[in-house]
Amino acid sequence: MEPYIFQSGKNRGKMAAILMFKDYRLLHFLLERLNKESRGSKKNRLHEHLLWLMSRGDNRRPVTMCRFCNKKPVKYFSVVYSDSGISVGLNFTCCEDCKGELTKGTALKVPQFYLLTFRSILLFSRKSDQRQVVRLLREVYGLPKRITTQTAWQFFAA
Ligand SMILES: [Zn+2]
Repeated sequence: MEPYIFQSGKNRGKMAAILMFKDYRLLHFLLERLNKESRGSKKNRLHEHLLWLMSRGDNRRPVTMCRFCNKKPVKYFSVVYSDSGISVGLNFTCCEDCKGELTKGTALKVPQFYLLTFRSILLFSRKSDQRQVVRLLREVYGLPKRITTQTAWQFFAA
């Protein structure tokens, strides 16, 4: 797969891979539209690229180990809700075996668990909440604070 650079619109000149971090909802919206429009007909390059890129976003492997068992990488995160938005963080992550541990002795009264994948960004409508999920993803994937197009591309293409 080759990087895809938008040639028009507000993201002109930007690489699709960097928009996974900056505007995942837009990519999701574009893909939904392309899926509807292209029924049965040949997919264009953007369509092929987004199908590939979004599926990569679903199968990246976190490098952060579960803080409870220290045996498996984290897989889920939980969220604390308040009026000002959500709180997420490494303290509220766990592997598939340790959900019970995460709910013990925390403020999570009715804990919900979300997969640590890019798709989970779609669960939150506030921009500030989405940014928090992106930050958490960056942390569990061991990515730097400032993500360049090159970093983004290497991460999804690897
Ligand atoms: Zn664990």
